[in-house]
Amino acid sequence: MHPPPLPDRSIEAYAAVTESERLERLRKLAATIGDARILHVNSTATGGGVAELLRSIVPLCRDLGLDDNWLVMDAGDDFFEVTKAIHNGLQGSGSPLTEEMVATYRDVNERNAAELEGTYDVVVVHDPQPLGMIESVREAMPEAEIVWRCHIDLTDPVEEYLTFVADDAERVDRAIFSRAAYGDAIDGPTKHVIHPSIDPLTAKNRSLDEATVTAECDRLDPLSFDAPLVTQVSRFDPWKDQFGTVEIYRRARESIPDLQLALVGAMAGDDPEGLELYERVAEETVDDPNVHVLTELPDEAVNVLQRRSDVVVQKSLREGFGLVVSEALWKRTPVVGSNVGGIPLQIEDGQNGYLVEPDDVSTAADRVVQLLEDDERRTTFGANAREHVREHFLLPRQLAELLAVFVEVLGRGS
Ligand code: UDP
Repeated sequence: MHPPPLPDRSIEAYAAVTESERLERLRKLAATIGDARILHVNSTATGGGVAELLRSIVPLCRDLGLDDNWLVMDAGDDFFEVTKAIHNGLQGSGSPLTEEMVATYRDVNERNAAELEGTYDVVVVHDPQPLGMIESVREAMPEAEIVWRCHIDLTDPVEEYLTFVADDAERVDRAIFSRAAYGDAIDGPTKHVIHPSIDPLTAKNRSLDEATVTAECDRLDPLSFDAPLVTQVSRFDPWKDQFGTVEIYRRARESIPDLQLALVGAMAGDDPEGLELYERVAEETVDDPNVHVLTELPDEAVNVLQRRSDVVVQKSLREGFGLVVSEALWKRTPVVGSNVGGIPLQIEDGQNGYLVEPDDVSTAADRVVQLLEDDERRTTFGANAREHVREHFLLPRQLAELLAVFVEVLGRGS
């Protein structure tokens, strides 16, 4: 396992975007946690929502004086093929789980667990990838409280994958889910619900000055910000349904001929399906100069695209939470998104965007066209969007809820 590089973060800086009471509460919770040693373990330092969250949470906890640590598993493609199959199985599709897959999973988990040094008071394993190390963690640190932070929608899994994961998940002390319904399938640990959040101060989400926006726009040429633009930002993953987004665009273009589509996707380090899907999407759209399939963009370019698009689409078939939705809403861009997983927590239908059923491309296209043809509605939705995210989905709120769980597991509450 290895510690990923961490950016500097200061809790003071959040005074610009959140109420002082929230920051004060964070300081109090941190003081209660005191010198407890906390470790987060996940399987990638880049790409995807979990890495995005930890990159903010860990340095902020340190700025609050906590002994907060993050280790990323070392693993090869064979392991990530297995864990992607587990992820897909938990979301409801996939091939059978073979003995060989289980052996690969156990072997890599044991090897990583064996590298753990020292002891921690709380060990948080994120998603199913490191869940296989809990037995070794228990042996090495019998006093540690083990928390499983599950970011995945478990409401409609393939049974054998759920059974496989539940076998470990039911032996942790606490489990944290992004929505209450996701935890119904797991018995045993005390359960908590914490909605994820975005960090408003990262390069991805902060306000940008005009010069930076202009420079990033120029770099995105031939994409034009003078013609209507719809964007989806997602890993290239079958669950994000980029082909469905292309279909929405094609239908919307019948009403808006100069419409452009940007499909932006990073390759997460633990997602072996990404490259293949990227190539298939690029191939599908190669003849249309108004479709831009972009990958590995710097965070500021993603920021500009979310900010300057007229509408953002999130056509997911399944979505644990979908940070990208709040990222766009925070930038005052209305979102047309599927009514799945965490998306309906973020989109208030008819207020800051529209919810559509995941198989209803036709209504999604109509909603996109309605928004593109109505500047005033986009402005109103954009203002509502900003406030909805400010109230519910900014980092200080999530961090306070997480620290409150740590206080509870450590038995340090009053
Ligand atoms: N992301 C990015 N560049 C991309 C695609 C995605 O930076 O090209 C980021 C995106 O901005 C978000 C995260 O990856 O912060 C994806 O998190 P989300 O919860 O939406 O989905 P996940 O990938 O975890 O399923």
